[in-house]
Amino acid sequence: MSTAKARTAHAKAILGPELHQRLAETKVLLVGAGGIGCELLKNIVLTGFGKITLLDLDTIDLSNLNRQFLFRKKDVKQSKALVAAQTAAPFNPNVQITPIYGNIKEPQYDLEWFSQFDIVLNALDNLDARRHVNKMCMATQIPLVESGTAGYLGQVQPLIKDKTECFDCIPKPTPKTFPVCTIRSTPSQPIHCIVWSKSYLMGQLFGEDEDAVGELDEAEKQGENAQEIATLRREAQAFHAVRQALRTSTASDAAKLIFQKVFDADIRNLLIMSDMWRARTPPVPLDFDQILDGSFVLRSEEPPAAATAPSNGKSNGVLKPANAVASGSGSNGAANTDAGSTTLAAGSGLKDQKQLSLKDNVLLFISSTERLAARLQAGEETISFDKDDDDALDFVTATSNLRSAAYGIGGKTRWEVKEMAGNIIPAIATTNAIVSGLIVLQALQILRKSYNKLRNVHLQVKPAVPLSTITMCPPNPACGVCRDTYAMVLCDPKRALLGELVKGVLGDDEREVSVYEDKRVLSDPDWEDNYTRTLESLNVTRGMFLTIVDEEGEWGTISVGLGVLPANHPADAPPFILPHPLPRPPRKIKAPPPMPETPMRVSLKRGAPDEGGEEIIDLEPTPKRPRLKTTADENIKSPSKKRRLDEDGLILMEGKDDMLDDDIIVID
Ligand SMILES: [Zn+2]
Repeated sequence: MSTAKARTAHAKAILGPELHQRLAETKVLLVGAGGIGCELLKNIVLTGFGKITLLDLDTIDLSNLNRQFLFRKKDVKQSKALVAAQTAAPFNPNVQITPIYGNIKEPQYDLEWFSQFDIVLNALDNLDARRHVNKMCMATQIPLVESGTAGYLGQVQPLIKDKTECFDCIPKPTPKTFPVCTIRSTPSQPIHCIVWSKSYLMGQLFGEDEDAVGELDEAEKQGENAQEIATLRREAQAFHAVRQALRTSTASDAAKLIFQKVFDADIRNLLIMSDMWRARTPPVPLDFDQILDGSFVLRSEEPPAAATAPSNGKSNGVLKPANAVASGSGSNGAANTDAGSTTLAAGSGLKDQKQLSLKDNVLLFISSTERLAARLQAGEETISFDKDDDDALDFVTATSNLRSAAYGIGGKTRWEVKEMAGNIIPAIATTNAIVSGLIVLQALQILRKSYNKLRNVHLQVKPAVPLSTITMCPPNPACGVCRDTYAMVLCDPKRALLGELVKGVLGDDEREVSVYEDKRVLSDPDWEDNYTRTLESLNVTRGMFLTIVDEEGEWGTISVGLGVLPANHPADAPPFILPHPLPRPPRKIKAPPPMPETPMRVSLKRGAPDEGGEEIIDLEPTPKRPRLKTTADENIKSPSKKRRLDEDGLILMEGKDDMLDDDIIVID
């Protein structure tokens, strides 16, 4: 028997001839060819899936090669989808893989395009794309297996419209952010200084020329200290001078100017606000020259040995590791920490893992500032933080450590800063492999239509129960995604009028409705001005959804996905083709009024299988939550800097419980 035949024989014996035969004809869409995607592609090719479309928007990076085993060094910079398809195709001579180097959110991947598949497998690394694929699958009623890993943790979740929860039935936790004043004036943890450096300082110095007025306006509205805001405003304006220096004068002067502004003058300004430091340790302004010549005393109460030892490099003012800061202000604590750091620095020899002294940080600050300034002067217009940009990482390491030193916070190594600033959770090949195997098992249950055997599976750090399985929950009745009634309308946005299309979809149903595109209000019963406009003039085009919401809240919402007219559609025919039959949303079931007297029922918290300990946990139906509000005012607020900071995606996982949530994000 040939190798290929022997392989088929095993799969056939395990799956049974009927399912095995069906797999060859099953059209599967695999979204993502990264850590999970590579493993999963190999699995489904070997299992016998015959028609695979593989889509990924990324190219191969050198750092992928330790776990994305379909790629080799020669493939770096090539499309992941294309290379993965080339590598995996020979695993099964009967497989047909269609690779696409593209973004799943592009308009050509519309409902009609999704409709060609029998099943969709997600191997994605970001929330936005996951939510998009979830919606497309809910709209087309195509089963989806969703997955994610974070370090040693992983999750696989089958999602089928009307049968199970969808990805959006449970709101995802919003990424943790910090109040602007914590970042800008009262940091207390290393992460505060890292965020300050990468999101604020880098932006001020190397970003676009803009002041931080929006952010401060917002902070003022939130009722933050007005005097503090005024100081921060002055501080922002003074950045113009150093920005100029970076772009014109010799860079070492610029480095000193920046240092004196940021680590000396700005801190002195903050110290004037004595109220702020009543219950906090006030920061210490840093002295550029004194640090360099070894005469600087960081905190006078500390024993001179720790802070002002002769400038022989390693042991001078070594910043304590963050976890040693809370206690140990006595001489013993400081001495021990210092000794420990010296050993570490001498022992590891790795630049990235070395604890940097105050002087080390100043030198790193000068050299990285010079390198970044040279890039600006060579024509780069802006430089923003990228964990893989060595100059930027050095700059953020040095400046965040210097700020930490000024505030009495422990320092971080370059490696630690990279992890924290890049929100990196290490991607682990074995976790990806286990999760990919689980995805195939769930996909096979879906194809067998054994819906009662589907499980939400968690891979967890618990030796006795490494895998926990949870029976599927029914859809959340209040979900704003899977409870909608979907329809597809093929149209020419240049000619189709909003009003005609909406009336066409509603047919003889003359309810009063509001119409949205995402969060944009296009019309409501008292404002139908846009009804006579074309979809194109409203920026509503292929791949988007029109959401038709019943004004009385009595009927379900209709979501109309827009596709393109077939090529042979006559030019004089109506500019859209309505679905047959027209969508008829169900009448909404009114939620029973709350009964405060009833004692709360204790139910197992979903997503934390650790608490249960059993292998199978039956859960209460998901509690109702209000439908996502889609009001106009949500949309009107202009994006402030703070919001952009949020969108930078700073996600902190403080404990293992955080990681057990559904929103497992792979940073690949
Ligand atoms: Zn849902």
